[in-house]
Amino acid sequence: MIQQARETLKNVFGFKEFRPLQEEVIDHVLERKDALVVMPTGGGKSLCYQIPALVFDGLTIVVSPLISLMKDQVEQLREYDISAVQLNSTLSRQDYQHNIDLIKRGEVSLLYLAPETLMMPRTKKLLESLDIDVFAIDEAHCISEWGHDFRPEYRKLAEVRKNFPDAVAIGLTATATPRVQEDIKATLELKETETFIASFNRTNLFVEIQDKHRPLDQVLTFLEQHEDQSGIIYCFSRKQVDELTQELEIENFSVRSYHAGLSERQRSKNQEAFIRDDVDIIVATVAFGMGINKPDVRFVIHHDMPQNIESYYQQIGRAGRDGLQANCLMLFSYSDINKIRYFINQKQGQEKKIAERHLNALLQFIESNKCRRIPLMEYFGETYSPDNCDMCDNCIGEPKQVQDLTVQAQKFLSCVVRTDQYFGATHIANILRGSEAKKIKEHGHDELSTHGIGRELSKKQWKRLAQQLLIQNFLKRDPEYGSLKIKQAGIELLKGRKTLHGKVKSRKKNTGRGASRTAASANKIDYDEVLFQQLREKRKELADEADVPPYVIFPDTT
Ligand code: ADP
Ligand code: MG
Ligand code: ZN
Repeated sequence: MIQQARETLKNVFGFKEFRPLQEEVIDHVLERKDALVVMPTGGGKSLCYQIPALVFDGLTIVVSPLISLMKDQVEQLREYDISAVQLNSTLSRQDYQHNIDLIKRGEVSLLYLAPETLMMPRTKKLLESLDIDVFAIDEAHCISEWGHDFRPEYRKLAEVRKNFPDAVAIGLTATATPRVQEDIKATLELKETETFIASFNRTNLFVEIQDKHRPLDQVLTFLEQHEDQSGIIYCFSRKQVDELTQELEIENFSVRSYHAGLSERQRSKNQEAFIRDDVDIIVATVAFGMGINKPDVRFVIHHDMPQNIESYYQQIGRAGRDGLQANCLMLFSYSDINKIRYFINQKQGQEKKIAERHLNALLQFIESNKCRRIPLMEYFGETYSPDNCDMCDNCIGEPKQVQDLTVQAQKFLSCVVRTDQYFGATHIANILRGSEAKKIKEHGHDELSTHGIGRELSKKQWKRLAQQLLIQNFLKRDPEYGSLKIKQAGIELLKGRKTLHGKVKSRKKNTGRGASRTAASANKIDYDEVLFQQLREKRKELADEADVPPYVIFPDTT
């Protein structure tokens, strides 16, 4: 049978060889054993069920969360002369009926369905009468509340799967946290499952993070180095997408936008134009990209901080699918965190906790001064320990110097305490810098301020220091008012029993090697190795105790 699979790969799809793990998965599925497939975006998950679908005689059902994604896949399969159809609400009555007739006549190899459609009684009835060999659940992480993209209707797939006890089930996802994997396996009741995990290390992606100073200039500088190349620029909001698109148009770039505020027609028009190379650049919100299959995307820019590390990874994963080098640039500013926190604060309970954890993992990635691949791969449960990956800003930049910031941290913390823990970092920084701002007088802090005990750092540096204190759990932020509160560790630091090491001084811009390799600019935080170790241990402890996923980096200890 595996021989047949190889021939199908060549003769139907026209590919010379399997990508890593494809053959193993297909072999396993052809033996009618369930499988969970974890591969990065672009890794080639679809073939893992498409080839068995062609080797087996019966029908393969593919559940897919997005209608646009389904449509693309069906169209692609038809280009290969494969009999694939979809059933969903966008079809006319006629087309719907036509597809049902084809299915009934046994002329269909792959049937794509949205979970809602699958749950409909008439679909269930239709499927009961058919010979179903494979039940594939694409984007299977949507099943898990621990994933970044939970969809309640996906959870019900478990019931449906019970109706086809003889079909092989295969779950596919690019989300590799162990917790999500367990959830998928349990929910789908996978039997004799093997979990196939492909490496998440995309070695051809150059990963870089820059402080966001003047984002437009930074984007323009980057684009100048990527003239005529295809790329995606992700923004946080529709408004930002529109603004940036306009700015780039003014600069004569070939650019279109994509977000949920545009009409369906406009969206698909812009997407098509990008895929066909009629335009170089697409500026988009997160709405763009699922299922986009363009091999030569040469760059992905995050104009704003992504929502979490998984979306980030998925989004950069859209670059360089042809295996050639692609560049991924994130612009990062602390004010972006506040936007994300705002959304997190709208959530409640478990959901809120999970979102907080996702954010913390992302911050840990951003602020690490080690190879970017270490925290990134670690998040996905892989250990990665190179001397130098040579494909990230931290590996090609100069080594960073750590400073002892304990004294500054003490100044800051004592100021927090002396202003009754009622204020945010800006106000504290102003006091330390001896500012005469109105707000300072208003709150009677002018006396504190006159000393100007913190003129050695700029306002920006003080805010950076505050961020380090927050991340390292010396401070916490009041979720409602944003004011800074001291934590036990902060008190210890004030008493001189703990230290803060890090970096607040600017580093000169490193031009790096080759035009496309602009190293990140200054101001990465450098964790004190010891502290880092402590956090790591604490994290393990907490993970054991509370049954939380091991990627929780900075648990909230309050
Ligand atoms: P995923 O679902 O994992 O994100 P896809 O299944 O959409 O990835 O595949 C990504 C791209 O890789 C597609 O263009 C697909 O045709 C191509 N591809 C998959 N397997 C192979 C292979 N063995 N050889 C060459 N190209 C492949
Ligand atoms: Mg896919
Ligand atoms: Zn590196």
